[in-house]
Amino acid sequence: MQTCLLCSRIIKQTLTFSEFFLLKNKRNLICNKCQSLFKKIPNERCPRCSKSNSKGICADCLRWEEKGIIVNHQAIFIYNQEMKDYFSLYKFMGDYRLHEVFDSYFKNLSKKIPLVPIPVSPKRLQERGFNQVTAFLKDRTYLDLLEKEDTVSQSSLNREGRLSTTNPFKLKEGEKIPKKIILIDDIYTTGTTFYHAIKTLKKANPIEITTFSLCR
Ligand SMILES: [Zn+2]
Ligand SMILES: [Zn+2]
Repeated sequence: MQTCLLCSRIIKQTLTFSEFFLLKNKRNLICNKCQSLFKKIPNERCPRCSKSNSKGICADCLRWEEKGIIVNHQAIFIYNQEMKDYFSLYKFMGDYRLHEVFDSYFKNLSKKIPLVPIPVSPKRLQERGFNQVTAFLKDRTYLDLLEKEDTVSQSSLNREGRLSTTNPFKLKEGEKIPKKIILIDDIYTTGTTFYHAIKTLKKANPIEITTFSLCR
């Protein structure tokens, strides 16, 4: 008997005839109720960063523009409380199986433009046992161009500390950088992570970069 990984309700597995026949069934890891609580970003969104319910360009993107950055970001889901709960089980409790809940959204990303995941630091990787972004990209090829150093966690810093954080990324040695890439992360909050990663990549090469995250 299968129980929902998020709420422990029992899941009834219903297979269509062809799924049964072709043995192509993908088991459900979470129940329909939990699935329905994840909300897609509506069409009314910031045209630059996908922030929901934004009429026109949002305040965050205008702040980036002042720094000379025109954000070009796509996201699919709203980072609501249910999504926060999901990520706390997935990332902080380290339940690797949960990547399957959303990895189909990463399968549809461009096959022409190389995907570059945001890395986690070696310390975090050891604690968690996996990089939550590359787990989503399990069935895709991607380029590991960046390395992340261990830094103080953002939540332990005050506002001033957060704004002055140094760039934690550096380029991996010996990697060839393509002309165009899509940078991939799990969640977009302030955009600072992408900003640092883009700065690192562009310092090496004036390449074209767009960004994608599951949530915004
Ligand atoms: Zn559930
Ligand atoms: Zn925006």
